Amino acid sequence: MKKSVLVTGAGGFIGSHLVKKLKQEGCWVRGVDLKSPLFSKPAADDFIIGDLRDPQLCKKVVDQPFDEVFQLAADMGGAGFVFTGENDADIMHNSALINLNMLEVCVKNKVKRIFYSSSACMYPEHNQMDPDNPNCSEDSAYPANPDSEYGWEKLFSERLYLAFNRNYGIEARIARYHNVFGPEGTWCGGREKAPAAVCRKVAEAKDGGEIEIWGDGLQTRSFLYIEECLEGTLRLTRSDFKGPVNIGSDEMIAINSLAKLVIEISGKKLSIKNISGPQGVRGRNSDNKLIGQKLGWKPSQSLRVGIEKTYSWIKEQVEKNAKD
Ligand code: NAD
Repeated sequence: MKKSVLVTGAGGFIGSHLVKKLKQEGCWVRGVDLKSPLFSKPAADDFIIGDLRDPQLCKKVVDQPFDEVFQLAADMGGAGFVFTGENDADIMHNSALINLNMLEVCVKNKVKRIFYSSSACMYPEHNQMDPDNPNCSEDSAYPANPDSEYGWEKLFSERLYLAFNRNYGIEARIARYHNVFGPEGTWCGGREKAPAAVCRKVAEAKDGGEIEIWGDGLQTRSFLYIEECLEGTLRLTRSDFKGPVNIGSDEMIAINSLAKLVIEISGKKLSIKNISGPQGVRGRNSDNKLIGQKLGWKPSQSLRVGIEKTYSWIKEQVEKNAKD
């Protein structure tokens, strides 16, 4: 019998890639989202457009004991969406409702396993002040002090999944993703994240010009290519280890250096202008000790390989847009 899998948030960046991968594996896949994937046709056997804040929709969607559920739906975006404060109430309310509804119906319908995508944004701000030496080991999460409401909701929902696991027996698996990027991700409009925003700015810039980077550019991050994110997600979901565990790259880079890398890949001559803008914590990097120990695997691809593929895809989008 084919494995039956549900992906919520299947119209989004990670969800749409995950559906394709599950189809390649031979699973029967249902996808759900407010919208279809923006850059490719839905690959799911069944794609339901609907709002997971509505418990009735959740009941309709979870009408069978799926072998695996991947809960990726969330009201989210990059620094320009999450760190301005303007979207805090919606972010907390919408994502918490989705998680509350989904867990209830999954337990009622005897779903076997559920994966939940938490975020590195749940780590305490005070451990991420030094750009050269952030601490994001899993056991540093408490006492909690995320720097955004997005991070607080993730922390609450992690606990919710663990509580449902404890009290109702549903197998929960929790990953803390660190900045996932790749082709077919949001690249414009205000919800895009740093790698996509930098690729777009470089692709749009005229040779000899300049690009703007938020903050002094010395803030550091690591970025995980989508293929490795999917590999880690499937390995964790099918393991005996519940998490929460980091799924991220440990190749830390300053944002100005990321910009320099993209400029080099583009072949253009551009200068960088640092301007004020939302930027989040000063430093963040994935600590991959635990995932290595528990899964015998960790992301290892170099940032450059993923950025080359992503820049090439975003450049195509920019050129298409310019023609339209
Ligand atoms: P995304 O925004 O591309 O995908 C999320 C999807 O959820 C969107 O397509 C959106 O329409 C859908 N959604 C939102 N509200 C909904 C609702 N009420 N009903 C139905 N669908 C709804 O984001 P993504 O990058 O694919 O992220 C997937 C998950 O991973 C999210 O939970 C996110 O918080 C988490 N995460 C992502 C990253 C990253 O770098 N991309 C990092 C950490 C955590």
